[in-house]
Amino acid sequence: MARYTGAVCRLCRREGQKLFLKGDRCYTGKCSIDTRKTVPGQHGQGRKKISEYGVQLRAKQKTKRFYGVLESQFAKYFEMAEKKAGMTGENLLRILESRLDNVIYRLGFAASRAQARQLVLHGHFTVNGKKVNIPSYLVKEGDAVCVCEKTKATDFMKAIVENNSSKPVPQWLDVNRDTLCASVVRLPARDEIDLEVEEHLIVELYSK
Ligand code: SF4
Repeated sequence: MARYTGAVCRLCRREGQKLFLKGDRCYTGKCSIDTRKTVPGQHGQGRKKISEYGVQLRAKQKTKRFYGVLESQFAKYFEMAEKKAGMTGENLLRILESRLDNVIYRLGFAASRAQARQLVLHGHFTVNGKKVNIPSYLVKEGDAVCVCEKTKATDFMKAIVENNSSKPVPQWLDVNRDTLCASVVRLPARDEIDLEVEEHLIVELYSK
């Protein structure tokens, strides 16, 4: 599947906030959001006015980029969110949070969602005891997500877990750092999702 392979810091600068796409670098003084305040591109400094449509589009693009999801898949998630009971915007974020690559990142088993995606593709994780190599796999309440037995002993996984041990794990996930296993206690509430976006703008955009 086609995937954005350009400079990811440009995406953060375009959205004007940290999207944490680069792992450890995002937490250092080298973060481009801190060092380069302008929007990327030739006319970056000149862009000022933004239309209502523009505001809605930026909300959608920011969310899509935060989770590393492509346009068509994002639209499918929106359709799924619409069919569920409750607020569509919140449902959408909950679906995105329940992607396996996001869960792996949240658990500290990867430095970024991009790394999580690659590790999942390479078959380093199991869900309920079965190997799952689909980053878009949606976890459910009660699922057990574990690092594969073989991978647990590898130096690279030990280094990843060590580096990310101080990062907080959201309360909807219960992780055991000794066994490198976790369970999905429940799906997250809106206030447990740290993406700064007004999700109703995305709903408005897709409702046009
Ligand atoms: Fe975004 Fe991370 Fe680059 Fe900062 S370092 S601009 S948070 S990807």
